[in-house]
Amino acid sequence: MKKNLASLELSEEEMKTYGHQVINAIVAHFQTQDSELPVAMGSREEMDSLFLEEAPEEGSAPIDVLNFVLENVMTKSTNLSHPKSYSFVPGPSNFVSVMADSLATGYNIFSGGWVASPAAAELEIITIQWLLKMFGFPQKKGGGIFTSGGSMANLTALTTARRIKCGEDFSKAIIYLSDQAHSSNIKAIRVLGFKKEQIRIIPTDIEFKFSINKLKNCIAKDRLKGLLPFCLIATSGTTNTGTVDQLSELAKICKKEDIWFHIDGAYGAAAILSKKGKQMMKGIEKADSLTVDPHKWFFQPYEMGCLLVRNHKHLSHTFTEKPEYLRDIEGNTSEINFYDHGIQLTRRFRALKFYMSIKTFGLQEFRNAITYNIDLAEKVEKILRASKTWEVIFPATLAIINFRYNPIGKNCTEKQLDAMNQYISEKVVTSRKALLVTTLLHGQVVLRMCLINPRTTIDDVKETLALCRKFANDQSLVKL
Ligand SMILES: *Cc1c(COP(=O)(O)O)cnc(C)c1O
Repeated sequence: MKKNLASLELSEEEMKTYGHQVINAIVAHFQTQDSELPVAMGSREEMDSLFLEEAPEEGSAPIDVLNFVLENVMTKSTNLSHPKSYSFVPGPSNFVSVMADSLATGYNIFSGGWVASPAAAELEIITIQWLLKMFGFPQKKGGGIFTSGGSMANLTALTTARRIKCGEDFSKAIIYLSDQAHSSNIKAIRVLGFKKEQIRIIPTDIEFKFSINKLKNCIAKDRLKGLLPFCLIATSGTTNTGTVDQLSELAKICKKEDIWFHIDGAYGAAAILSKKGKQMMKGIEKADSLTVDPHKWFFQPYEMGCLLVRNHKHLSHTFTEKPEYLRDIEGNTSEINFYDHGIQLTRRFRALKFYMSIKTFGLQEFRNAITYNIDLAEKVEKILRASKTWEVIFPATLAIINFRYNPIGKNCTEKQLDAMNQYISEKVVTSRKALLVTTLLHGQVVLRMCLINPRTTIDDVKETLALCRKFANDQSLVKL
């Protein structure tokens, strides 16, 4: 039979060869990634010289294109799943979920409505149920949705909060968040069209938690002015330090003031699976909405975020539209159409990877991994405290540790220390041997490690600290 040349198909043999090569590459990557260099760099000029071309009219042999990509594209990405990627929030990932994503994409499953894919919708309902239970949310009334990430989950939450608390008119609505809240919240607030005057950024205390008194004063003042406090964003694991806000206390304030209580736990909430994390997150169950990011500490590959809500009707009240072209697939209310619970209509099948990885490894293995991460950060803190070179700036919290180079007896000025730590980070990154960047805490330049990769060992950290020290010594010969 002659193939239709315009059908975008490969032959069975070609597909098999192609597919096996892709799988072989992924497996090889999983086998060798820990011993490769984590950091990749490249200027626009360098990338242009490799890739810049007009869209080709004529095709090429499939394997040639694949080989070109394996050689030139996949090798030029910083690997955030690497055991020595300490910066931002790493994404350790796992092989089972990678394969699940391949299946979801391979079958091109539309995860928008029940009728199109009842099993996909059911798995999203079931895995959301698992998460609701984990976080102590009401199982029957609660609900949620998987999103591309934490940013979209926060946007979905704030859209819902505004809809439920303000209805159509939000001209007097005021939203509260701390100076440690993640930038995606401010982005979401902007997307929603709030004015600068409607945002209250509340200072944090010495531990980077909400200053409760300042918050209370601010709410009282806004009430006096006739404004409408409608939403508070707390953080359960700040990106900088892993700090968890005083969730129970904030919940009480929100209840009394009739304010929507959103918790951004994109990074840290997964720690509820460990004993220590559970202790720290008391009160998380009182949120109206909660963002968690499975592509961070639930070890899922990108992209996967999640929003949980106390009352699933709040999502459907906010996002349901009834266009005529979807009238035949509306279904009944127990058969959820996720396009009615969030922003996207066409959605990829994200629940599958969460489902398959938890079924395969069991929750216990996730608990152990998270507990290992928290303990590892505490061990690193001990090592730092025992040395004369390092100063712990903020104690290990939810697997994040902040420290700086500050050798005893050298009496460096703050300015010198800032420059030195900036220099160390730059040298480490350009060596490509570890991804370790700085952040600012109380105005000081500090090195920050986020240790949520279960493949990171204490020796990895020791090697990285030795590398930092080597660069610090080079520098001190010149400057100090
Ligand atoms: C990472 C992070 C986000 C943003 O999530 P993305 O998945 O990157 O969109 C939001 N809040 C916190 C606290 C985070 O750590």
